[in-house]
Amino acid sequence: MVDNSYPILIGRDLFRSIAADLAKKPLGRNYAVITDSNVISLHGEKLLSELCLQGIDACALYFTAGESSKTPGVWLSLTAEMLRLGYARDSAIIALGGGVAGDLAGFVASSYMRGIPWIQIPTTLLAMADASIGGKVGIDLPAGKNLLGAFWQPKAVYADLACLKTLPHAHMLNGLAEVAKSALIKDTRLFSLLEKNGKSILKADNRVLVEAMKASLRVKGAVVEKDEFETLGLRKILNYGHTIGHALEALSGFQLLHGIAVALGMKAAARIAVEMNIMKYSEEVRQANLLSRLGFPGRVQAYLAKKINTPAGREKLFNYIFKDKKAQAGIVEMVLLSGIGRTESNGGRWTVPVDRLMIGQGLGAIVE
Ligand code: NAD
Repeated sequence: MVDNSYPILIGRDLFRSIAADLAKKPLGRNYAVITDSNVISLHGEKLLSELCLQGIDACALYFTAGESSKTPGVWLSLTAEMLRLGYARDSAIIALGGGVAGDLAGFVASSYMRGIPWIQIPTTLLAMADASIGGKVGIDLPAGKNLLGAFWQPKAVYADLACLKTLPHAHMLNGLAEVAKSALIKDTRLFSLLEKNGKSILKADNRVLVEAMKASLRVKGAVVEKDEFETLGLRKILNYGHTIGHALEALSGFQLLHGIAVALGMKAAARIAVEMNIMKYSEEVRQANLLSRLGFPGRVQAYLAKKINTPAGREKLFNYIFKDKKAQAGIVEMVLLSGIGRTESNGGRWTVPVDRLMIGQGLGAIVE
């Protein structure tokens, strides 16, 4: 049995201790710091200088910031650059940045010379509270997101809260959606913590944020530990809000931020759960109130609502929702809650078949 567990350290101003850790217990002869074009100047240079002070051989490779870089082309050019610079089987990778840097650099690590070790330094709330745990790495293909990838666990994750100081509010909210999701699927204590603090959780007093982040990581960690390779179905509960959320994102031409789309998707899913007598109406209201307190919009923006209210736009949205084979039968498997913090196994499926009529009911909760 292979032990794939790894430490996740959460703290402030960690770069010095990361460099010291690597000097004491090296992961490789040299390091490629893979980051994006924004993070390189915001945090990358500081990390490189700390590594240099410890006498560690490291150099930065960066790609254009954004999802559009999670492609085979960028993966190949990073790999080619590492080969040109002489990185070998005894080298290691440091992924510095948001979820895109983590997925991309992790995929390079998983495939470079059949796999080399890596550590992750997430710099967005989304990457700290969600993407950095679970070992999923990968890139997008024209046919869809994350279609080429691997399970490749990092050796350690260092979440440095100081990095969040430069993160725009919209991206803080993006990460908070995943924290709220963790609370909704599995953690009533975290739900209460979020309820109590509302959007002030995102303020610089990080004590509560750290508590929330840790709780969210525990939820994902517990799920991933039981279903590391997505063979049991349990891992699907992490997709709560994502069926309708992804479809809204796609319909908006990816203008809608992922976290906002997921929050709207969760709101629609709760309405469906109530309509299907799986959850009480009072629980739907509690969920909606929490999302609103955290600062998420309760309805899709006017431009998107206008699109959804045309027959062609609605059909397009349904096509995104019913994208798998069952689509022809007009059924989609969705994660629904039976209450705040509760999902049911349904014989190990963890999802519930939902038809077009019910999807329409769910959309009624978020589209004017
Ligand atoms: P991102 O990595 O593109 O970061 C968002 C933006 O913030 C970018 O422009 C980036 O340059 C900038 N940025 C990053 N850190 C910053 C900082 N500290 N200060 C200022 N700007 C900063 O996107 P994301 O939202 O972090 O992650 C989204 C990606 O994560 C998606 O590709 C998604 O598929 C992936 N993801 C992966 C997993 C997983 O389990 N592997 C889970 C969830 C999401």
